[in-house]
Amino acid sequence: GGFQSMGLSYPVYKGVMKKGYKVPTPIQRKTIPVILDGKDMVAMARTGSGKTAAFLVPMFEKLKAPNAQTGARALILTPTRELALQTMKFTKELGKFTGLKTALILGGDRMDDQFAALHENPDIIIGTPGRLMHVVMDMNLKLQSVEYVVFDEADRLFEMGFADQLQEIIRRLPDNRQTLLFSATLPKLLVEFARAGLTEPVLIRL
Ligand code: AMP
Repeated sequence: GGFQSMGLSYPVYKGVMKKGYKVPTPIQRKTIPVILDGKDMVAMARTGSGKTAAFLVPMFEKLKAPNAQTGARALILTPTRELALQTMKFTKELGKFTGLKTALILGGDRMDDQFAALHENPDIIIGTPGRLMHVVMDMNLKLQSVEYVVFDEADRLFEMGFADQLQEIIRRLPDNRQTLLFSATLPKLLVEFARAGLTEPVLIRL
């Protein structure tokens, strides 16, 4: 099965082709159908496996078109500024034909620029947990319309000491959301986190 057999809509498929991806990587082949099916998922995947597109492609498919009426509908949490920037770049490239808007919420960046991005009714928020919680508190940013959540490099999110912020964020998310966790390793702490924050997740490993 290639990308053309995944039932992607034209703007999403076109983004993938334009990026030059001819066939899905093994992790993409396993995860994308599960995500499109609406399931929660824990995927053991390393950087270099194509994990970013594995959660971006089905996210575009689910969000379909921009919607400025609701709040953000997708939230991607990353452990570092560098990974968030890289994910933003992929989102812009792969999602080029979807028209979806993305805001980046990062420690170390000017708060007012980030406020401006949030005022433009983004469909997607990509951020690091510390700054995101800061913005939630300071700006009263609501996460109730989020229906698609990704914890990327989840083991590193915990290593970086974001456990409290992650709990705070989860507490503010609606129950009827789809939650995905990508991680290179699955330490006990993470298994417990997945048990509390995900609903009957499908476990994918290569
Ligand atoms: P990642 O694991 O998400 O950091 O991706 C690693 C690299 O693989 C990036 O340069 C991606 O652009 C590239 N990549 C992801 N999916 C594919 C694909 N299906 N075909 C070719 N390259 C890909």
